Amino acid sequence: DHVANQIAAGEVVQRPASVIKELLENSIDANARHIQVVIKDAGKTLIQVIDDGTGMSLTDARMSFERHATSKIKIADDLFSLKTKGFRGEALASIAAIAHVELKTKTEVDEVGTCIKIEGSEVTSQEACVMPKGTCISVKNLFYNIPARRNFLKSDNVETRHVIDEFQRVALAHPGISFSLTHNGNELFQLPPTNIRQRITNIFGGKTNEKLVPVEEATGIVKIKGFVGKPEYSKKSRGEQFFFVNDRFIKSPYLNHAVVAAFEGLLKERNYPSYFLYLEVDPKSIDINIHPTKTEIKFDDEHSLYAILKSAIKHSLGQFNV
Ligand code: ADP
Ligand code: MG
Repeated sequence: DHVANQIAAGEVVQRPASVIKELLENSIDANARHIQVVIKDAGKTLIQVIDDGTGMSLTDARMSFERHATSKIKIADDLFSLKTKGFRGEALASIAAIAHVELKTKTEVDEVGTCIKIEGSEVTSQEACVMPKGTCISVKNLFYNIPARRNFLKSDNVETRHVIDEFQRVALAHPGISFSLTHNGNELFQLPPTNIRQRITNIFGGKTNEKLVPVEEATGIVKIKGFVGKPEYSKKSRGEQFFFVNDRFIKSPYLNHAVVAAFEGLLKERNYPSYFLYLEVDPKSIDINIHPTKTEIKFDDEHSLYAILKSAIKHSLGQFNV
C-alpha cells in the first residue's frame, strides 16, 4: 500500500504549493476561521498549516492518513453535490508517503489532543498533547524518499512564487477567513477577515481599490459577483485573473475568452484584463472530478455561461463609463 500511496502522491503532490493547497482546503472544510501558513526554504524544508477548525478525535486522526479515508462522502450521491473541497481522501495519505509529517489535533469535546508522527506512511509515534481546539500539520522534508522528485523542484524563488499563487487563490476564495503566510520568518501576508473588495486590496495593494469595477448578475443558471479591473489597469502579462466557481479557484480558457470579448475595443493591444469573478452554479451542473488537482471543471451549459458572463461584464463596464 505504501507504493500505491507513493504513486498517488505523484498525482496529488507536484511541489510544496500542492501540499499547501490540500492542507488549506482541509482547514476550510473543517470550518476554520483563522489559518496560518508557515514555510521554510520555499516549503522544501517545512510546510506548516495551523487552523482553529473542528479538529479530529484520536480515531479520526489515525484514520485520516489511510488512503480513501475521507469523512466527506457519506453516500455516493454526495459526489454530485459537493460542497466541501476534498472528496477523494487521498491528500493526507499521499503527503505522508513522501514526507515527515506531524499532526497535532484536538476537538472541542476532547480534553487533550493527539500528536501523531508519520514517516513514509509509517506511524512512528503517537501521544497525547495539550493544545487548543484545531489542527496543526507540519510537513517536513518533502520528497525526502524520492530524490528524483526533490531534484526536479525549481529554485526557492520559483517554488515560493507557486506557494504565494496558491495561497492568494485560497485567500481570495474565502475573504471571511483570516490567513497569514510566513516564509523563513518573514510575514508575507496577514489578511484579516473582510469582504471580497477589501481582500483583493489587502493582497494586491491599496491602489487596486480605485481600479475595480463591480460585476453582478443573477440568472437561473449562474450567479456572478466580483470585479473586473478598469481597462487602463490591464497589463502586458497575465496574472491577476481569477475565476472562482462555488468558492473554488478554477482555470478556464473558455470563460477567460468571454471576459476578453467583453473588453473588446477597450484594451490596449496585447494587454490582458484583470478580473476577480465569483460564479455560483448548481453543483449538479458541474463536474469537478476530471483532474486530481481540481483546478479544471466541466460545465453542463458552458455556452450560456459564456454569454451571461460576457454581457454582465459589458454592462458593468458601460455603467461605470470606462
Ligand atoms: P479529503 O479532504 O479528500 O477528505 P484528506 O486526505 O485531505 O481527504 O483528509 C482526510 C480526512 O482527514 C478528512 O476527510 C478530514 O476528516 C480529516 N482532516 C484533514 N485535515 C483536517 C483538518 N485540518 N481539520 C479537521 N479534519 C481534517
Ligand atoms: Mg483534503
